[in-house]
Amino acid sequence: MSQQATRDHLVDLRRDLHKHPEPAWREFYTTARIVEELERIGVDELYVGPDAINTDERMAVPDDEELDSWFQQAKDAGANPETLDQLEGGYTGAVAVIEQGAGPTVGLRVDIDGLLRDESTDEDHAPVEEGFRSEHDGAMHACGHDAHATIGIGTIEKIKESDFEGTLKVFFQPGEEMIAGGKSMAESDHIEDVDYLLAAHIGLDHPTGEVVAGLDGFLAVSHFLAEFEGVPAHAGGRPNEGENAIQAMAAAVQNLYSIPRHEDGATRVNAGKVGGGTATNIIPEQAHVEGEVRGETTELKDYMKERADRVLQGAADMHGCEVTTTTNGEAPSAESDQGLVDIVGTIAGDTDGVENVVERDELGGSEDATYLMQAVQKQGGLAAYIGVGTDHPGGHHTATFDVDEASLPIGIDVLAGSIEHIAESRP
Ligand SMILES: [Zn+2]
Repeated sequence: MSQQATRDHLVDLRRDLHKHPEPAWREFYTTARIVEELERIGVDELYVGPDAINTDERMAVPDDEELDSWFQQAKDAGANPETLDQLEGGYTGAVAVIEQGAGPTVGLRVDIDGLLRDESTDEDHAPVEEGFRSEHDGAMHACGHDAHATIGIGTIEKIKESDFEGTLKVFFQPGEEMIAGGKSMAESDHIEDVDYLLAAHIGLDHPTGEVVAGLDGFLAVSHFLAEFEGVPAHAGGRPNEGENAIQAMAAAVQNLYSIPRHEDGATRVNAGKVGGGTATNIIPEQAHVEGEVRGETTELKDYMKERADRVLQGAADMHGCEVTTTTNGEAPSAESDQGLVDIVGTIAGDTDGVENVVERDELGGSEDATYLMQAVQKQGGLAAYIGVGTDHPGGHHTATFDVDEASLPIGIDVLAGSIEHIAESRP
């Protein structure tokens, strides 16, 4: 394909993925579409669905009914039925391998999932104007992961045509938004021989033409669901016979925010969603709270998690209830290694369309690429998280978010160039 034809093809792919946003473990259409592209390009090894992840480590997997409806939707949208068969049960994602001579193994991680939120219907929102607005009610690519998957495909294509010597592994990771998929990819066999790992994110308030060579400041995070079980009773006749689950839940919410700050750094806690009870005249037997804790480091997150567990248990005990706590998503913190940051910075400086290179910046949120980064760092390798600027009209996770498609080739050029240089110089 000519350069222009390749670019047009990538824009079409990004728009097709944008039309079909799918959240964690529901990326059926998305995975099938990625596999279709990988088969077109021709890769040396391709692992799909359950073969791409550690199937025991998925978090926040939806129930069968939810999975079935997204599966059916992907089928109706024309996803390849043979690929879909491999994904059944919510085993999504793919790992593609290119082998090009003797050299190190370089990994690239891109996430592929969408968010559970509606997309804008404004006439001047580009996806509406150009006819690629989300076709899935209540779901949207509001963080650019449609662009990330596209950049992953484009990078493979570019590396195949390059002088790269080594092995390239691209991890198309499901479930980042719910921090539910990173662990399952990091604990698969595929990570074990990776010497260098790059991950990338588009936007993050950096404009088109700006590249951040190394992002840090990932808050380690843990999502929890605490379910309280009490004893029901007639609220007027026998209130003394009940054990009130809502009181336990309310006491827990109040006291989660009373966990002391930590001398070692920043911590966060949030009770984001609560519910319970059935009627005003019944002592409620059930209540729940969904929340999260974060920390500047994994240790600080663990401290918050331990204290949060104590609060939840204490609140249950005080009101004679039982509590069951489940972790629904988790990610550690991580740092970008200087050896890779230097290479990415140099390559970005020489890339067409790049006007400004920022050496390092803080992400300030959470990301589960950190599981893969840490896995590679623990086995003696290097990892870095790169920011590829894009002009985005709305903020991340809002209804008017969109990416400037001019940043797709920039991202591909910076990543492919860096991968080639990393293999050559082996920092
Ligand atoms: Zn994102």
